[in-house]
Amino acid sequence: MKTIEHWINGGPVPGSEQRTAPVFNPATGQERARVALGGSADVDAAVTAATAAFETWSESSLTQRSQVMFAFRQLLLEHEEELGRLISAEHGKTVDDARGEIARGREVVEFACGLGDVLKGSFSDQVSRGVDVHNFRQPLGVVAGITPFNFPAMVPLWMHPIAIATGNTFLLKPSERDPSAANFVAELYRRAGLPDGVFNVVHGGKDAVDAILAHDGIEAVSFVGSTPIAKYVHETGISAGKRVQALGGAKNHAVVLPDADLEFAANHITAGAYGSAGERCMAVSVAVAVGEVADGLVEVLERKAREVEVGPGDAPGTDMGPLVTKAAQERVEHAVGTAATQGATVVVDGRGLKVDGHPECAEGFFTGPSLLDHVTAEMDAYKEELFGPVLAVLRVDTLDEAIALINANPYGNGTALFTGSGEAARRFQRNVRVGMIGVNVPVPVPMSYYSFGGWKDSLIGDSPIHGPEGIRFYTRPKVVTTRWPQPRQQVTAGFSFPTSS
Ligand code: NAD
Repeated sequence: MKTIEHWINGGPVPGSEQRTAPVFNPATGQERARVALGGSADVDAAVTAATAAFETWSESSLTQRSQVMFAFRQLLLEHEEELGRLISAEHGKTVDDARGEIARGREVVEFACGLGDVLKGSFSDQVSRGVDVHNFRQPLGVVAGITPFNFPAMVPLWMHPIAIATGNTFLLKPSERDPSAANFVAELYRRAGLPDGVFNVVHGGKDAVDAILAHDGIEAVSFVGSTPIAKYVHETGISAGKRVQALGGAKNHAVVLPDADLEFAANHITAGAYGSAGERCMAVSVAVAVGEVADGLVEVLERKAREVEVGPGDAPGTDMGPLVTKAAQERVEHAVGTAATQGATVVVDGRGLKVDGHPECAEGFFTGPSLLDHVTAEMDAYKEELFGPVLAVLRVDTLDEAIALINANPYGNGTALFTGSGEAARRFQRNVRVGMIGVNVPVPVPMSYYSFGGWKDSLIGDSPIHGPEGIRFYTRPKVVTTRWPQPRQQVTAGFSFPTSS
């Protein structure tokens, strides 16, 4: 059985501990590899390598850094299919979906290629007589990223291209459920000409995370994952004096107004709910039907849910693969049962799904799409982030009621409105307490040159990720006030606080 090792100082290393964890192929339910579980000695080895690399990397020119990013971007493009298949084999999502996440991650590399422009400082001439002011930003040092299973390529790509392009060195602690993408990316960076020690990977779970949070040599931590762990990482990291950005879980509502094109809305809500088996932080997990649209909407949603093709992620024609683990499959199926007990109508029941035509999938972690109607805000199916292919329909009378429902929810990652009315869309986007909003767009993931981040329990702390916020997060500003006196110029130095003249 293959063991996936750490990647420290330019190559794979077995790590100091003998502990490993299984990595499954969720479509077959079979173990496909073991992953090393790192601890403080491994984190320390990575930080030592990254600290040494920082000395030279932070002194490299912007041209050199953007050339590495251009080469890395090209390699990501050339290896998209291979990396996509690797992700599909450990995560379960379809190869096309995996290629989509790589493409969206590559956009962040493209943003980082333009580093020379985005890192420009500003200059003020003659702020006082003979005095100028300029500012610039410098890297922090060694920074770390701790990432979730659901986007093993894209979420780390939200972090490391910007951290590295701005002159930092990086330690990635990916999810232990689908760890191979991290090493694949490390190899691409090596081939792109990134010096050894600039990008490192330590695998593992809580022990590795705790070692990162406790390590004095790490200046900043970027975290993406569930809200309880985001809160823990934020609190622990901040107490240890680090800069921390921590993105958490979600419950994303898609509101459908009576004037919406039902077929269009239902099509997009279905894809947003069941794509990647609902294991996206921007997945649509709640459809809010406003007024008389409800019965018609549920009817179309039911038809669409029944049309979803469930199968292994690498089979042509598959829309939706398995869940990531057996525990996730059991949790989601249990939640559907609880919803029925609590009074929801199970319109489509995905429990106990058997995948036709794929005998190798008999032990896979599959569940089919589930559609729940007449869900209320008090039910667990609404309150909990199920992170599976379950769409809950809530019925309200007005758009303002829909907005109030969204605002009362503790999460505020993404939301969407389906309508033909500009007035309603404007009211919605101005009044919802959510960070990322779609108008007739179900999964409104911002482009890389904007920043990604929710509100409330979907973002702990105050720093969204990538785009301009990424540059800000991974650098510190300096402001320089300069005077060049003329030779032998007599200037009296005042003892009171300097003002301009
Ligand atoms: P998770 O919180 O279980 O794990 C995230 C990371 O934390 C992993 O690297 C994991 O090893 C580590 N971890 C797990 N338990 C820990 C513990 N007790 N102490 C310290 N570290 C621990 O999340 P997941 O199941 O991998 O991913 C799914 C979650 O991520 C969902 O809640 C989803 O909404 C969220 N997510 C959010 C965004 C976003 O942008 N807001 C993006 C992707 C995923």
